[in-house]
Amino acid sequence: MRCCCAVISAALTPASSLSPSPRSRSRSIVELPNNSLSQSQRHYQLFSLSLCPRKRFLNNRNCDVSAQCGRAEAEELSEDDFVVVNFYRFVFIENPEAEVSRHLSFLQGLDIHGRVYLNEQGINAQYSGPSKDALLYVKWLREDDRFSDILVQISPAYNGHAFPKLKLRYKPSLVQLEGGISHLPLLDSSVRATPLAPPEWRKRLEPGNGIGAPSNEKINTNYILLDVRNGYEWDIGHFSGARRPSVDCFRSTSFGLSSTEDVASDPLANVDKEKTDILMYCTGGIRCDVYSTILRQRGFQNLYSLKGGVSHYLKTEGPAEWVGNLFVFDSRLSLPPSSYKPEAIVNAARSEQVSQCNTFSRCYVCGSQVSELRHRNCANLDCNLLFLCCIDCVKDLRGCCCVNCITAPRLRPVLPGHQRYAKWHLYRDLECKAS
Ligand SMILES: [Zn+2]
Ligand SMILES: [Zn+2]
Repeated sequence: MRCCCAVISAALTPASSLSPSPRSRSRSIVELPNNSLSQSQRHYQLFSLSLCPRKRFLNNRNCDVSAQCGRAEAEELSEDDFVVVNFYRFVFIENPEAEVSRHLSFLQGLDIHGRVYLNEQGINAQYSGPSKDALLYVKWLREDDRFSDILVQISPAYNGHAFPKLKLRYKPSLVQLEGGISHLPLLDSSVRATPLAPPEWRKRLEPGNGIGAPSNEKINTNYILLDVRNGYEWDIGHFSGARRPSVDCFRSTSFGLSSTEDVASDPLANVDKEKTDILMYCTGGIRCDVYSTILRQRGFQNLYSLKGGVSHYLKTEGPAEWVGNLFVFDSRLSLPPSSYKPEAIVNAARSEQVSQCNTFSRCYVCGSQVSELRHRNCANLDCNLLFLCCIDCVKDLRGCCCVNCITAPRLRPVLPGHQRYAKWHLYRDLECKAS
């Protein structure tokens, strides 16, 4: 569990410094200062992406599920509104160090925070910024033929930056997985799972499909739905019918690889590798691309992935077949489906199709249902466990994950609501007393 704590917090909070930093392995680390918007003297060109900067959010005033709707009032996204942008691509980059420098020099003067990693196998980026800067970077990237058709995912960030600073550097592995991924044939798309567009994916999952479907459609109902994420991500939202991953660290995922150990917890153990369709999904698609490559090498033949991951799906299909929220690896922690497609929620509410949200999420401490699908970090600085907790237990355990943590020497104060702990070192030398 501790290893996972470290991984999770590394993804989420500056508390990553609690664990040994992987920096020593990286070759060039450059962190840009927090540039202010006014520094941007560039000519700003509005351009069309999957996100229209205007009229992005609909009026959800009559939404029955306002709790899910985030900011439920009519909204427009202006060029100063913050967004989170995600993209990745596996493509050969001959000189990644030079590429890093090019990106850094482009980003000078832009207000971008986040993680942008490059190496010989491509790029993986998650960052936040005011939409004018965030989208300018995308536009610039797309001017390069290697990235001209890259799938870019954009979601709202209501409280400014979702990352503490910009880390743009060479990274030996674009995805953390035990054993690394540099030896995998990731540049060969034919090895990966076949990507299914969201409507196609939805069709596969919808109950009744295959039964009574026209025979020429040949939908194979014999499939396994594989959530290629972490258990704690599943806990706040997942596709209906997906089993909870048994790992709390994607890096140690071993579905389909088990030999003797732990066959019971492996949904791919003993399946017919030639006849069974494996439908796999993750948040944005990258983990499926990596993991399906491994499964292909292990003999699995019918591999399908959700193109662009859940975030792309929620944007095009809304919450159909999905229950709960989507866990995200930035300070927002989780997003309701309405963040991606507000109108779908309204429609679903009208036709009473809103999923049985929240009925599967349990408080880590007492097991009761939680009303807020959002994790919190344990107030014990030396634990920092990311966990789901009901309001009563937050009070009773003073923000800690267990009784033992309450008596730990380095306790941070209980944070109300959605607040996140600040940088860990601010608490390091303090005698924080839980209030
Ligand atoms: Zn509880
Ligand atoms: Zn704890």
